[in-house]
Amino acid sequence: VKSEGRNGWCFFRPEMDEQLQRRLEMEQDLKRALADNQFQLYFQPLLDLGSHEITSFEALLRWHHPVRGMVSPAEFIPVAEESGLIGPLGEWVLKTACNAAANWPQPWRIAVNISPLQFRHKSLPVLVKKALKASGLPASRLELEITESVLLENEKQNLSILTQIREQGVRIAMDDFGTGYSSLSYLRAFPFDKIKIDQSFVRDLPHDRDALSIIRAITDMAQSLGVRITAEGVETPAQMDALKDLGCHEAQGYLIGRPAPGIDAYCPVAKTVAA
Ligand code: C2E
Ligand code: CA
Ligand code: CA
Ligand code: CA
Repeated sequence: VKSEGRNGWCFFRPEMDEQLQRRLEMEQDLKRALADNQFQLYFQPLLDLGSHEITSFEALLRWHHPVRGMVSPAEFIPVAEESGLIGPLGEWVLKTACNAAANWPQPWRIAVNISPLQFRHKSLPVLVKKALKASGLPASRLELEITESVLLENEKQNLSILTQIREQGVRIAMDDFGTGYSSLSYLRAFPFDKIKIDQSFVRDLPHDRDALSIIRAITDMAQSLGVRITAEGVETPAQMDALKDLGCHEAQGYLIGRPAPGIDAYCPVAKTVAA
């Protein structure tokens, strides 16, 4: 409560106060942001490494803060999670993503990130069903990306939620694969349709031996389980070639396309289609 004393130590660090202040402000601002339409979805393409065609787009949330400009989801998602706002925000993402994809001129799929906290509140299978119905998007064109932390808590209940969603025909992908501890056992516990190899492994390709052997182990195992594999964070042609040699099915990253507010750049006809 006092700033630095003459003896060089204090009870209270000003930078901590600043962090806390910023957080509280962000929480306040987030509450208003949904009503004020400050959120937007960007879309990033995923490329099939066999056919070289776009298969789908991942929806990535953007927040245009009226004063601070664009705020990264890495910064505001955790605040939304801790303050309970992830419920309504996640519902908005799901609806908006399905509405967008239902209007796309190709049968591309849409991948939506789901926070582990969205498993706790309103019934996720019901929200998914409603978003599909309202948009007219076929269930087979929706994919949900979850992280393994979903299976760390309430494992039984969350597995049942995932099963209910999958039974609707929606695909389930495991995101950030390889960054947790128990990834392998989770692959046996639930029939994921896809795993996404975290970009931290891709970054060190094509030369790093450890990265190569980890990715090879993941692809070998995924292949024997019949799971499709996507690599994230692909930035160079050499990385893409290495991933294809290693047996990855799909790639996502700046090399293929950055997240963008629309998908026009990928449409075969030059006609504009709202995303
Ligand atoms: P994520 O799901 O792992 O998404 C991939 C992140 O990597 C995105 O960051 C994307 O822009 C970035 N990225 C894509 N290609 C490359 C590349 O070639 N190189 C590098 N260095 N980065 C690449 P973004 O958009 O900042 O999102 C960060 C995280 O925020 C996401 O990580 C996801 O965990 C979370 N997030 C984003 N949108 C949502 C959402 O709608 N709901 C929830 N719950 N989380 C979201
Ligand atoms: Ca993701
Ligand atoms: Ca990821
Ligand atoms: Ca990530």
